[in-house]
Amino acid sequence: MFDLTAARQNMVESQLRTRGIADPRVLEAMLRVPREEFVPEAYRRHAYEDSPLPIGNGQTISQPYVVAVMLEALELRGSEKVLEIGTGSGYVTALLAELAGPVFSIERHAVLAENARRTLERLGYSNVRVLTGDGTLGLREAAPFDAILVSAAAFAVPDALWEQLAEGGRMMIPVGTPDAQQLQLIRKIAGRPVVLVREAVRFVPLISGS
Ligand code: SAH
Repeated sequence: MFDLTAARQNMVESQLRTRGIADPRVLEAMLRVPREEFVPEAYRRHAYEDSPLPIGNGQTISQPYVVAVMLEALELRGSEKVLEIGTGSGYVTALLAELAGPVFSIERHAVLAENARRTLERLGYSNVRVLTGDGTLGLREAAPFDAILVSAAAFAVPDALWEQLAEGGRMMIPVGTPDAQQLQLIRKIAGRPVVLVREAVRFVPLISGS
């Protein structure tokens, strides 16, 4: 029997800690959340590999290291209100729920949203809400958000997301074209964006409209 718990511990050591992820809360959350529950049955034994994996509908669950970089940069301390765009499998949603909360997550594929909702409920996450819709519009009725995490690549930061970020809040978003994207950490300080350009990444595109 393939030992998924050992594989998870090994992932945290060899893919995260040795590459510089240091926030103990992020490392602990990634030790707790069973990534295998968020991938299709056929990929379970590959759940802790150093890569994205297919989750259906042409979408992917993000690489663990990239997820850790994004979470660490948000500096979540426990009670932040968080908006996630691109729920996908719900894996990052679960991690956000471990690190902060309440978490609002928007996914444009109804089938993926429904699967993620079911997985999150089965694992006992009660401080999350998964909504089907266009995440580029944000979620006005729950704004402002202390943190926003976008898991799909935008050509530019959607206006609504910037508007819905709280003063002092942080947003992590991949920005660029399909084959040249960079993660950006955007802070709202005195109403102005302070941008830190981070790693080069490759995410599926953020699609506006339905
Ligand atoms: N964090 C997720 C990544 C999923 S991939 C995981 O680890 O599983 C990115 C997701 O963004 C896809 O599921 C895609 O359908 C979704 N997406 C793309 N454009 C979107 C939009 N405008 N609004 C909401 N979701 C969107």
